[in-house]
Amino acid sequence: MNPCKACMRLNGQHSETRPHGDLRLEGTGVFGTPREPIRRYVQYRCHTCGSWLRQNTERGDPAGLWSLQAPSGRASVTRDETLKDEHAGRAVEWLKNTIESAKGTG
Ligand SMILES: [Zn+2]
Repeated sequence: MNPCKACMRLNGQHSETRPHGDLRLEGTGVFGTPREPIRRYVQYRCHTCGSWLRQNTERGDPAGLWSLQAPSGRASVTRDETLKDEHAGRAVEWLKNTIESAKGTG
């Protein structure tokens, strides 16, 4: 399936551009150490076309821009996607906790 028009339009826009209405927050891409985490992007999935959209931070690639990853054409990836979703969910939870504890100490 090809990316829908809304996804195509968002691709390459500045990350300050809001996600379009069909995007669902899936998780975040984080690397670094627990002590010094670096959030690279926020990942969304379009429920119209199934594309993955990444809202990159200034540490992301490409930096500060939306990027689009078209869904793979394979039909047998359901299990893998579930695992990825679980992983993304944990990343979001962990990120929220990190942000909350950072607020608490400030
Ligand atoms: Zn789309």
